Order: sequence, then structure tokens, then C-alpha cells
Amino acid sequence: LIALEDVRKKFGDNEVLKGVTLRVEPGEVIAIIGKSGSGKSTLLRCVNGLEQIDSGAIMVADAQLGDDELRLRALRLKVGMIFQQFNLFPHLTVGRNVMLSPMVAKRMPEAEAADMARAMLTRVGLAHKFDAWPEELSGGQQQRVAIARALAMQPLALLCDEITSALDPELVNEVLSVVRELAADGMTLLMVTHEMRFAREVCDRVVFMHQGRVHEIGPPEELFAAPATPELRQFLGMTN
Ligand code: ATP
Ligand code: MG
Repeated sequence: LIALEDVRKKFGDNEVLKGVTLRVEPGEVIAIIGKSGSGKSTLLRCVNGLEQIDSGAIMVADAQLGDDELRLRALRLKVGMIFQQFNLFPHLTVGRNVMLSPMVAKRMPEAEAADMARAMLTRVGLAHKFDAWPEELSGGQQQRVAIARALAMQPLALLCDEITSALDPELVNEVLSVVRELAADGMTLLMVTHEMRFAREVCDRVVFMHQGRVHEIGPPEELFAAPATPELRQFLGMTN
């Protein structure tokens, strides 16, 4: 569903992605782990077309990123992204936040968008908050609205960048259990996370990024139980 081929990305003369190759199958759930600065966010941003790559190729479904502006825009509609900060519009109700993108980007009629928003809010357990304001919600609830908002665009895949990092510990699980349900429903997920237990339980594969490269990749039970490189051992807090 998503394929990266020898992707390189520089900021100035700082090469942040040094040839990343990765295939994500439909329905696959992949965790991306690695030290701060290893290029995890940049990788997601490149997949979503938020950053332009210097060389290599990124394919999503059958469109190649960078083909042309129109296809790029169509593609962006197909890949949802959720960030650490929820970025809900404070002056719009929860329901309106979820309705906005389909109405603007897909010209969905208002009544249909409202039905869609209700359905997506139901999926994240917040149908009863349709008329609430974002500031009335907890951080965990706001992040679940952000997930509903991404789902309302019916994406082929969801990219999640540390979506629980800004939450108080007691709110992390409600967001992770929504992600867990999406995974069980067959959503393709590419998520940067520090939640190792979650990665172990839910993800099909784990990607360990180190200095702009995929340093190790494999099923979590293998990677966590028997890291092949000293870098991953160190990252996981083991001594060798
Ligand atoms: P963290 O765990 O802290 O979120 P990360 O693995 O997500 O780290 P990135 O955000 O991808 O790392 O950043 C990788 C490198 O690229 C860092 O050295 C960062 O300073 C640099 N970088 C990222 N975005 C930009 C930008 N817009 N302009 C210049 N440099 C950038
Ligand atoms: Mg990051």
C-alpha cells in the first residue's frame, strides 16, 4: 500500500533520511521507534507529502508522490495524519471539527458530513460529544476527536506521530485502545511511538530508525527479544 524506495531528505546539508526503503502492506500496523533526531517524524511527513524528498520514490496506492500537484493533493486526501498536538479548531464544535474536511476537501453536503461525523465519533466512543467544544474535553478525548477527524476522510492509511506523548499517563490508554480497534478493523497504520508495550502487542512489525536509516526491522517479538545491533540494544535500555 505504501512503498518507500531509497528515500533521501536533507535540510540544508543535514541529511536526515539517508536512503530509506520500506514496504507497508494493506492492513499492516508498523511502529517506528528510535532516538530523538533519527528522522522518524520526517519520514512520516515525507509519506504524507508535507515534505518534499530529494531523491528516491514514495508510492501510496498506485500514485507516486511528486508526480504532479493534482495527484499529490488527491494522495494527501488518502493518507491521514495525526500529531502529538491535537490541533482541533477551538471555535468549532467537536462535530463541526470532524465535518470540516469532508465538506471542504470533498465538497460533501452538510447533512452527509454530519452523518459521517456522527459515525466516526461513535467509532472513537464520543458520539455524545458532538455538540461540545474542544476546550470542554480532556486531552485524551481531544485526541480521539482528532482521530475521528482523520477517519472522516476515509483514508487508506493513517500516520500517527507520537499521538500519546502530550497526554497525561492516565489518558494514554483510551487513545491507544482506539488505535487498537482501528488495527483490528484492518486499518493500515504507520505510527511513531514510545509505547513499547503497545508496539509489542499490536504492531506487526517494528522499524528501528537510527541516524536516518532503517537500522533494524522485524516482528516485535524478534526485535525486542533479540535486537541484532548494539544501537537497538542501547535504545531498548539493555546492556550487552
Ligand atoms: P523526535 O523523537 O525528537 O521527534 P525525530 O526522530 O522525529 O525526533 P525528526 O523530527 O525527523 O526526528 O528530525 C530529524 C532531524 O531533522 C533533526 O536533526 C532535526 O533537527 C532535523 N529537522 C527536522 N525538521 C526540520 C526542518 N523543517 N528544518 C530543518 N531541520 C529539520
Ligand atoms: Mg518526531
